[in-house]
Amino acid sequence: MPKRTLVTGGAGFIGSHVCDALLAAGHEVAVLDDFSTGRRANVPPRVTVYEGDVRDAAFVRSVFAEVRPEWVSHQAAQVSVSRSTREPRFDAEVNLLGLLNVLEASVESGTERFVFASSGGVLYGDVDEPAPETHPADPISPYGISKMAGEAYVRFFHRQHGLHAVSLRYANVYGPRQDPHGEAGVVAIFTERLLRGEPCVIHGDGRYVRDYVYVEDVARANVLALERGRPGEAYNIGTGQGTDVNELFSRLRALADPAAEPRYGPPRPGDLRSSRVDPAKARAELGWTPAVDLDEGLRRTVAWFRARARA
Ligand code: NAD
Repeated sequence: MPKRTLVTGGAGFIGSHVCDALLAAGHEVAVLDDFSTGRRANVPPRVTVYEGDVRDAAFVRSVFAEVRPEWVSHQAAQVSVSRSTREPRFDAEVNLLGLLNVLEASVESGTERFVFASSGGVLYGDVDEPAPETHPADPISPYGISKMAGEAYVRFFHRQHGLHAVSLRYANVYGPRQDPHGEAGVVAIFTERLLRGEPCVIHGDGRYVRDYVYVEDVARANVLALERGRPGEAYNIGTGQGTDVNELFSRLRALADPAAEPRYGPPRPGDLRSSRVDPAKARAELGWTPAVDLDEGLRRTVAWFRARARA
């Protein structure tokens, strides 16, 4: 059955791919976004866009009254860890009060299913092995604190109001449309710099391990979580595999600029040494496994950035 769906943050990197996946599955899609980091060009045609801020409760309510979404995928967020440490209040206004506005409007307008974009890395911290969902959460940034509290609000809305809501804890997401000028998103940053012949800086010894998951797989996880997620639950969305920055640079160099040499810079304070998530629960309960491996995902990403540079 096609559903009326609303994607908050649908003009962003991940949200726009969620829109694509929902449309491909035959659903109707509307987007709520303030374009603070999202781009109009990311939003697929056939999608109605409501421009405004999740912090504005009246605006959010008016969008819900018009769209009456049966499903909601909440991707809109303040996504900068460093901004969250400088401006914890701003982070909480967007990531907690904004979330509450969307949750309350969902209950008021009779939304059936809800997905919240959370984060594995910032909850679990440094881990030697892929962390299961039961790993204790100990966030060290206000951004991580807002994701942890956001999940708790999602569970509260499930228990208190019967909202069928789940949280997805993404690993390090990469792919087409990622912002190459952000503080994070090393795949996008390196790809753009390699294609421009600009130097790539590897921080410290480059042996910082991350779990890279391709954005279309994350988008598909959103659709599966809406279809069959267990309400009140959180699911890791990652591969469980680890790749360090040196290895990532080598693979991207082979695809984008084989002669490039990296530059090594000072380590970044606070960078986790190793972050991976265990996707076993998503496999068992959502039937989700990553379909695009790192080689293929990087190939597609470089192809997309190359085509964009030509255009
Ligand atoms: P993004 O910046 O590309 O997307 C965020 C979107 O939300 C943008 O379109 C932005 O314009 C919109 N937005 C921001 N503040 C808003 C506000 N106040 N009102 C309305 N819209 C607003 O970032 P992304 O990487 O696509 O992140 C999407 C979600 O996934 C976020 O919730 C983020 O915390 C989460 N997440 C991302 C990653 C990752 O690796 N990229 C990892 C874990 C979790």
